[in-house]
Amino acid sequence: MSLVPCKECGVLNSSEAEICLSCEFPIKGRPKTNGFRWIALLLLVFLGGPVLIGSVQTIMTNLRPQAEKGTQQNP
Ligand SMILES: [Zn+2]
Repeated sequence: MSLVPCKECGVLNSSEAEICLSCEFPIKGRPKTNGFRWIALLLLVFLGGPVLIGSVQTIMTNLRPQAEKGTQQNP
């Protein structure tokens, strides 16, 4: 067990502590990497979602003219 200075406020904390007792900054960085993973996942959903919806809409618009032609032929 050793003392580790907090990267955020410089207060010495136990190396066994997961967060700084003074500012609650994660010492081991584990929650931070977890956060980055979630941010990456959210970015993937936000960036990938519209692309997926866009591709579905292009497929739907490609299918629609055929259906509209069918309805226009029987007025
Ligand atoms: Zn701190």
